[in-house]
Amino acid sequence: MEGTAQNAASQKQAMIYICGECHAENEIKARDPIRCRECGYRMMYKKRTKRMIVFDAR
Ligand SMILES: [Zn+2]
Repeated sequence: MEGTAQNAASQKQAMIYICGECHAENEIKARDPIRCRECGYRMMYKKRTKRMIVFDAR
């Protein structure tokens, strides 16, 4: 398990994205690649908006 060290103090422009494939929540920071950590899928959408955001850059 990892991520327990991440709390409010270290959150910097991190957004929660939902994987379009497995619906896992991924905390993606501004400089992180948009990619699901569970399955590697690259289509994510923001948790707080219903707008789909597709990241399929190759
Ligand atoms: Zn996934």
